[in-house]
Amino acid sequence: MNGQMMQQPLLISSLLVHAERHHAEQQIVTRRVEGDIHRCSFRDLAVRSRRMAKAMQALGVTPGQRVGTLAWNTYRHMELYYAVSGTGAVLHTLNPRLHPDQVVYIADHAEDQVLCFDLTFLPLVEAVASRVATIKHFVLMTDRAHMPAASKIPNLLCYEDLLEAQDDRFVWPQFDENSASSLCYTSGTTGNPKGVLYSHRSTMLHTFAAALPDSLNCSSRDVILPVVPMFHVNAWGLPYVACMVGAKMVFPGAGLDGKSLYELFEGEKVTVSAGVPTVWQGLLGYTEANGLKFSTMRRTVIGGSACPPAMMKTFQETYGVHVLHAWGMTEMSPLGTVCTLKPVHDALDAAGQRAIQAKQGRAVFGVDMKIVDAAGHELPWDGKATGELLVRGPWIVNQYFKAEGGDPLIPDADGRGWFPTGDVSMIDPDGFMQITDRSKDVIKSGGEWIGSIDLENIAMAHPKVAMAACIAAFHPKWDERPLLVVMKKPGTDLTRDELLAFYEGKIAKWWMPDDVVFVDAIPLGATGKMQKNKLRDAFKSHKLPTA
Ligand code: ADP
Repeated sequence: MNGQMMQQPLLISSLLVHAERHHAEQQIVTRRVEGDIHRCSFRDLAVRSRRMAKAMQALGVTPGQRVGTLAWNTYRHMELYYAVSGTGAVLHTLNPRLHPDQVVYIADHAEDQVLCFDLTFLPLVEAVASRVATIKHFVLMTDRAHMPAASKIPNLLCYEDLLEAQDDRFVWPQFDENSASSLCYTSGTTGNPKGVLYSHRSTMLHTFAAALPDSLNCSSRDVILPVVPMFHVNAWGLPYVACMVGAKMVFPGAGLDGKSLYELFEGEKVTVSAGVPTVWQGLLGYTEANGLKFSTMRRTVIGGSACPPAMMKTFQETYGVHVLHAWGMTEMSPLGTVCTLKPVHDALDAAGQRAIQAKQGRAVFGVDMKIVDAAGHELPWDGKATGELLVRGPWIVNQYFKAEGGDPLIPDADGRGWFPTGDVSMIDPDGFMQITDRSKDVIKSGGEWIGSIDLENIAMAHPKVAMAACIAAFHPKWDERPLLVVMKKPGTDLTRDELLAFYEGKIAKWWMPDDVVFVDAIPLGATGKMQKNKLRDAFKSHKLPTA
């Protein structure tokens, strides 16, 4: 017997319809690529998205076709989120920090028909335009006044002209909620990047889950500033969450330095933000150097890589900003776990609570997880057993775009598959998961595993360390031993022995790094994460003093 409730597909356009009807006056503020601060409302967003939807159709974009973007976090990018997906086409957010060859590979692989891009990326697009076979239209996301006098791209279109040419008499089509909505490629640190194709249904369910109180906890009272780019897993879903709950949205555009961010945080009374640990270093460096505090910021979501406990302590104790440590992947839309404390943790002191918060957290409803040993047997949730983390849920990838890499899932006895995350972790009896490493970063010393994240977190707690990566270095007896690659804070002197002494009593003796090397910079990847594969290459022939 079927239930007798309305059949309404879960479509992304419904978020926009809701935002216009119930939060029309709510604001969207953008530091524009053109240099000024732009303000509009959710009503404007809805009207302009309808016009852009018609413009896309006028360009010949049909349901299922891909529209690429190379763009910062701005109101225009948000319009495309709704305009493209709302018509049934697929928004493909390309990462402009990738190497031009990778941009070409990804745009070709996705068969993008239209490419919309910010002024900043005009040189990049001019360099690759002739190499991407499928793109028929190039749209510069600006107004007529900012269009270049001449461009190497023939028939370069102007975003605002396209909008001007349309009215907003447009009704969002209704279609199957399983239709594809957007496409995001993994960074491809190993092998070619693979596409993850989200659906309207998966995005909507993810949005509900992301907004929940024990998740990112967003409401209409919030002012959200996503530092995480809209090309990094849809800014972790925040542009959708904002419409669902009616929160004010603040977009930093290209201004990701500490000063620009701080001014927006304060000027727009931002309450919640989100980003990878490396971006917060820039911001905290700026506030520290200038003796500034946050007057409205209440919490920040930190994920993408492990949040160093020292950073968490600074945010919480010096600035009164609560840290929500979160874990996820492109393949998971991205949210998997968020570390919100349970009532049992109320009795702990600040240090005890931070020890829990250093974990990646517990599964948000919709995501199930388990850890398994090398033979695939499930391991207990005792906070000690360490194994590969497997996940499943309605916003987790089933297969990659164009079946790249074959079937990624590991079948279970119940016939449903699990997605192997490539992360090594443990789960405690309260269900809090802690990543010890990525399987490709783990250091295998004499058959035993050493987690690099723990060793990096300790280094990051040293007052003279700006950034630290721990990688495996070759050792003739143990195969691999930890090598610490360190970037000092400007103007500080720090020696190898001083740093190693800092580890005394904090870890088992055999986990002690065998050597420390100081570098001017640690390479960061396109999403702001440390590129340990590059460091491993660079220190391939490093001779450990213990060897
Ligand atoms: P990329 O492969 O481009 O880095 P993702 O952003 O999807 O793509 O990265 C997902 C991976 O990032 C996870 O599998 C995990 O290794 C790492 N990660 C994400 N969040 C955290 C976190 N809070 N702590 C530790 N690692 C994390």
